[in-house]
This record gives sequence, C-alpha cells and structure tokens, in this order.
Amino acid sequence: MADAEGLPEVKLLRADDREACAGTRFGGRPQFIQVDNTPDCCGRPMALLAQLDGLDYPEAELPDSALVYVFVCRQCFDVSAELQCM
Ligand SMILES: [Zn+2]
Repeated sequence: MADAEGLPEVKLLRADDREACAGTRFGGRPQFIQVDNTPDCCGRPMALLAQLDGLDYPEAELPDSALVYVFVCRQCFDVSAELQCM
C-alpha cells in the first residue's frame, strides 16, 4: 500500500525456507524500536526503501535486537541508513 511519501510494502521470505522474515521488508512504513527518526531531504521525509531485521538474517551478525533502516529521497535519490537496537 503506497501513500504520498512511502513505497509499496514488500515482505520477504528466506530462500532456504528456514523461517519467515518477520521484520524484514522493502517499502512500507518503518517499525522503529526506538524513536521515529525518519530523515528529511529536499524538504520532506525520506521514504523507507528497506528495513532489515537482525533476527531474520543471523548470517549478517547484527545484534539480535537490531533493525537497520535504509531510506531514499524520491526527489534527489540521496540515501540514509540507521541502525537501532532495543
Ligand atoms: Zn533529497
């Protein structure tokens, strides 16, 4: 579902069918585990490009409680990333 600032949400499954990816997705709205820290660019909030959940992808060796958020400006295509932990 897209909105004025966001991208359609796409959920992912692991290719090895080991388990579903609960928090990892492309697009949609970020599920912040700390404060809402959506960056602004070109005078408006950046769109969530991807949210990566450390629990979904242990091979990346992120902290289990970590989420990585990747944002893109849909006007100038600058990108920004943030890692939050519980
Ligand atoms: Zn921009």
